[in-house]
Amino acid sequence: MRVKKLAPPVEVEPPRSGEDASDCVACSTSDDAYIWVSERWRVRAMDRPTGLPMVLILECRSHLDLGDLPNLLAAELGVMTVRLERAIRSLDGVARVHVNRWGDGSAHLHMWFLARPYGRLQLRGTFLSLWDDILPVVPESQWRENLALVAAWLADFGGKANAEPAHIEWESPATLNVPVPTDADAVDERPVTLGDVETGGSPTGSSGIHNANNGY
Ligand SMILES: [Zn+2]
Repeated sequence: MRVKKLAPPVEVEPPRSGEDASDCVACSTSDDAYIWVSERWRVRAMDRPTGLPMVLILECRSHLDLGDLPNLLAAELGVMTVRLERAIRSLDGVARVHVNRWGDGSAHLHMWFLARPYGRLQLRGTFLSLWDDILPVVPESQWRENLALVAAWLADFGGKANAEPAHIEWESPATLNVPVPTDADAVDERPVTLGDVETGGSPTGSSGIHNANNGY
């Protein structure tokens, strides 16, 4: 393992993704990509399960960053943060929900909610987002069921849930011969979702897994 060398500071920082609303990914993404939507807020998941039981992102519809929120949205952000934290913490096997806003990757406000598995004391603290890449991926059926539970919880207070409970997947003869992916394939198949964390850097340097920025 090599320690990453500290780069000199740049004179002018590059623009973040979606600095202009006209090329903002969040603004151009339709509601059906989100697990829950309301008049002013939307919640989305990763495109597939990861190592943590649940990773969700809360976004406002308006193209604003945290410090630019008007009082109405600022107040609602507090309510939404509490509501989403409680929904995720109510899932089986979740001890704590870490709430983060990095804001280094994408300009449109997005708050991260990362579920820390119960009993996993090593995962406490600031490295939880890195553990998301290291841990074995949670089963997709369980992940989908949890998404549906969180979406339904939020919809109890208003808005619309999009996540559906997991369907039973009958094993067909074709699926019995699917080759087992190698370790390298498994890494490649990981969603690249924590672009902010990578962009923000970490004390241990880049793991190389978050090697692409998907604009979030
Ligand atoms: Zn936007």
